Amino acid sequence: MSNNGIVIVGGGLAAARTAEQLRRAEYTGRITIVSDEAHLPYDRPPLSKEVLRKEVDDVVLKPREFYDENDITLQLGAAATSLDTGAQTVTLADGTVLHYDELVIATGLVPRRIPAIPDLEGVRVLRSFDESMALREHASEAQRAVVIGAGFIGCEVAASLRSLGVEVVLVEPQPTPLATVLGEQIGELVARLHRNEGVDLRTGVGVAEVRGEKHVEQVVLGDGTELAADLVVVGIGSRPATEWLEGSGVEVDNGVICDEAGKTSAPNVWALGDVASWRDATGHQARVEHWSNVADQARVVVPAMLGQDVPEVVVVPYFWSDQYDVKIQCLGEPEATDVVHLVEDDGRKFLAYYERDGVVVGVVGGGMPGKVMKARGKIAAATPISEMLG
Ligand SMILES: Cc1cc2nc3c(=O)[nH]c(=O)nc-3n(C[C@H](O)[C@H](O)[C@H](O)COP(=O)(O)OP(=O)(O)OC[C@H]3O[C@@H](n4cnc5c(N)ncnc54)[C@H](O)[C@@H]3O)c2cc1C
Repeated sequence: MSNNGIVIVGGGLAAARTAEQLRRAEYTGRITIVSDEAHLPYDRPPLSKEVLRKEVDDVVLKPREFYDENDITLQLGAAATSLDTGAQTVTLADGTVLHYDELVIATGLVPRRIPAIPDLEGVRVLRSFDESMALREHASEAQRAVVIGAGFIGCEVAASLRSLGVEVVLVEPQPTPLATVLGEQIGELVARLHRNEGVDLRTGVGVAEVRGEKHVEQVVLGDGTELAADLVVVGIGSRPATEWLEGSGVEVDNGVICDEAGKTSAPNVWALGDVASWRDATGHQARVEHWSNVADQARVVVPAMLGQDVPEVVVVPYFWSDQYDVKIQCLGEPEATDVVHLVEDDGRKFLAYYERDGVVVGVVGGGMPGKVMKARGKIAAATPISEMLG
């Protein structure tokens, strides 16, 4: 390696974890983190939960001293606009050109918007800290919110808005919330949770129009229903932030295509986190949008980049979502098409095993943290479902 060091583009969890792991692996060269946000790298899960509910304001992952002490340069408020993999340079929006020996792409996601929705005050998306603060500001004055999309972020926003006393209509074209991830059977339990908390959940219908003069006033659903609204939150998912890679030769297909260690199609270029589509053990490309995946990937990509031994880790994927007082947790890789065995349900809390080809492939719990975590070994060992149920 020359002395240009490692440049990490993106200023979120993946960037911070990679820098941290590099120093732990005793990499002594230069490390530069380039982020288009003005904030120190911060944690996103609280944005739809504690931050929105005004319980927390500080979500930084590490204080500034951490970066100083570890000699990690932060270039904040600096978007990368292009990459030249031949010259091994990244160009920033202000024209600065950074040379690298190794480049790490950690640019995360950009929330999708609905082009037909006019740019009215009170129409919001949620991905960043600034967006969470702006949404919280609107929420403090709002009375009636429409949340479009009952995925994880839409469900969490609906729950947080309810706890702030806002009337919420949650609109979802699928038959239940989270249907595409967890299937309709568990989706029904999530629907029940929200309805019990006073959310007006409308499923099987989309949004046809959003109306207003300067500020949003009304949402019209596909079935013609007109809903008064002074706040609209669009939670219809996100897309990988890869525009800046156009023309670079780095292969992108719903995320940056990587091998099983995070190496991209371009020499000395790596990717991890929400933006990256890693090859999995079965040879498929998979992009994961969950927090714990980032640390799992950082533990692999760093030694691979440094030419060190890559640890053999058996990763059982995990994510959680906090909705009201219920922590929904998912361990393993359940799919909507799996056979679902609901083994506990007290009307609010629940536990379900997901079966594929006779073995347990996932466990989903609502408010059952101990029981979900206990299943980790069983999933890793592909335990027959009969044993789980017996
Ligand atoms: C509101 C919310 C709630 C969540 N809750 C949960 C949860 O409960 N459980 C769970 O498992 N996961 C949750 N997640 C997902 C989890 O936060 C992500 O998996 C994680 O943040 C991914 O980290 P990342 O570093 O890959 O991407 P990000 O955290 O998105 O970081 C990417 C960074 O790169 C910057 N960037 C983008 N383009 C450029 C560019 N061209 N130049 C420079 N910088 C750029 C972005 O501004 C951003 O700072 C949540 C996510 C959100 C948004």
